[in-house]
Amino acid sequence: MDVRTCRRCGRLFNYMFGTNLCAACKNTLEKDYERTRDYIRDNPGASIKEVSDECEVTINQIEQWLRDGRLEFSKASGVNITCENCGKPVKKGRYCEECTNSMLNTLNSMMDKTKKGKEETSAPKDKSKSSSNKMRFLRK
Ligand SMILES: [Zn+2]
Ligand SMILES: [Zn+2]
Repeated sequence: MDVRTCRRCGRLFNYMFGTNLCAACKNTLEKDYERTRDYIRDNPGASIKEVSDECEVTINQIEQWLRDGRLEFSKASGVNITCENCGKPVKKGRYCEECTNSMLNTLNSMMDKTKKGKEETSAPKDKSKSSSNKMRFLRK
């Protein structure tokens, strides 16, 4: 059994999966989230500070929910979080659309390269050449 310390209240609890929170804190957090979500829905113009004060949740926690995409502020609130890569304001998530796209592209081209490298080494015509290729690949 995996026993951990709750990130929020410091009590020991049996870790199952997901967050490092005990069941009680998970419940509280879920209630906090629902309260915050409802408050934002009813007060679309509220600033992050107001929401934090009214719902008794920390600004950090609200930003965490925004990053998780669980909360979304309306334009009227002027609340923005920024892209972790380029600093542009984003409405939710960790990265702006451009950065998400360019990261996906990088990932795709990286996968292409790995695929090509594998094809080269798995179909060797000349044994000595293929092993030197492999060496180079490893050293990289
Ligand atoms: Zn706890
Ligand atoms: Zn960005």
